Amino acid sequence: MSFVETPERAALRESVSAFAKKYGQEYFSECARSGRKTDEMWLEAGKLGFIGVNLPEEYGGGGAGMYELAIVMEEIAAAGTGLLMLVVSPAICGNIIARFGTEEQKQTWLPGLADGTKMMAFGITEPDAGSNSHQITTTARRDGSDWILNGRKVFISGVDQADAVLIVGRTEDSKTGKLKPALFMVPTDAPNFEYTQIEMELQNPEKQFQLFLDDVRLPADALVGSEDAALSQLFAGLNPERIMAAASAVGLARFALAKGVDYVTNRTVWKTPIGAHQAIAHPFAAGKVQLEMSKLMMQKAATLYDAGDDWGAAEPANMAKYAAAEAAVAIVDHTVHSMGGNGLTAEYGIAPLLSLVRISRVAPVSKEMILNFVAQTSLGLPKSY
Ligand SMILES: Cc1cc2nc3c(=O)[nH]c(=O)nc-3n(C[C@H](O)[C@H](O)[C@H](O)COP(=O)(O)OP(=O)(O)OC[C@H]3O[C@@H](n4cnc5c(N)ncnc54)[C@H](O)[C@@H]3O)c2cc1C
Repeated sequence: MSFVETPERAALRESVSAFAKKYGQEYFSECARSGRKTDEMWLEAGKLGFIGVNLPEEYGGGGAGMYELAIVMEEIAAAGTGLLMLVVSPAICGNIIARFGTEEQKQTWLPGLADGTKMMAFGITEPDAGSNSHQITTTARRDGSDWILNGRKVFISGVDQADAVLIVGRTEDSKTGKLKPALFMVPTDAPNFEYTQIEMELQNPEKQFQLFLDDVRLPADALVGSEDAALSQLFAGLNPERIMAAASAVGLARFALAKGVDYVTNRTVWKTPIGAHQAIAHPFAAGKVQLEMSKLMMQKAATLYDAGDDWGAAEPANMAKYAAAEAAVAIVDHTVHSMGGNGLTAEYGIAPLLSLVRISRVAPVSKEMILNFVAQTSLGLPKSY
């Protein structure tokens, strides 16, 4: 890993940034407020090769990796237009299909995921399992060669925009009778698959849904990857998810930091701009330090993932996601505070970031569950649960 970005990566960063700034926060907020989607932005990003930059070239992708997709996510979020489905569609679902899908699944899904004309959601969270994904009860049973799925999912993003949801379910091991995780592609128009929107207090065009699967019948090829290696396959999708969550938080933090610094540089109520006062300047400076450190950790995670080291990528991916979320929460909070009353006006449009940034602390994996992972895996401490 080099600390100097290659000319190709620098050029990607620049072109994504220019593209996203063309849309900008006002466009994103307006879509959220009026209840419409960011379809034109998504499709243009797909056409420009940004969405599928990590996917294999032979299936219409850019043939690069998670490092590049993290650049796309970071720059899009840094323009105030953090498209949440980038975390899900190309990063989780695209990577899993590219690595473990059948030839037919790859041909059916990857070109569309890459150019943005297809979108996939990802469903693991359940109402009664939450952070404890070992506790999920969505079950797949065989009926001839078909699968029958039953279960509930909650907080699943973008189901109304998606063509299918990659559902984490469980199958029964015929020898041991034990339930083990498995991944299923469920088309959003499948009979007996229903979803309802959850009203969230988030100013975001992408919405969350509760899913109801009641005897959803799927063909044999709905299973993605092997029934016996679902955990390691899941890893292939969850590390990118954490890298992208970190990239999204880094981008959002950069957006807020730029707004905050600009404001306090230009606002003068005493002799000097308020940004000269250390009570205002130091939290921004500390935020910048945290932000840069989390970005480095994110790049380390992406570099290891792209080198094929799933296990090696897990620790930095989790740490990057944790650190980026904490940096982003602190920066957004200080930006709103430093803008005084204007931090809460509709005109300045900063206050909605307060709730948006909290997503990065709780999803896709909470701050506490990352600390549990680090305590147990990195430090070898005993489990409390
Ligand atoms: C905007 C948004 C989008 C989302 N999109 C998706 C999606 O597309 N797909 C999907 O599958 N899920 C999605 N989620 C769900 C998200 O991953 C979960 O909200 C998250 O994993 C936490 O689960 P929970 O909400 O049930 O909280 P709970 O598990 O009930 O946890 C509540 C609190 O308790 C803490 N806690 C729980 N267990 C422990 C413990 N052992 N030690 C210490 N603290 C603990 C948690 O850290 C958390 O702070 C989304 C959530 C949000 C908010």
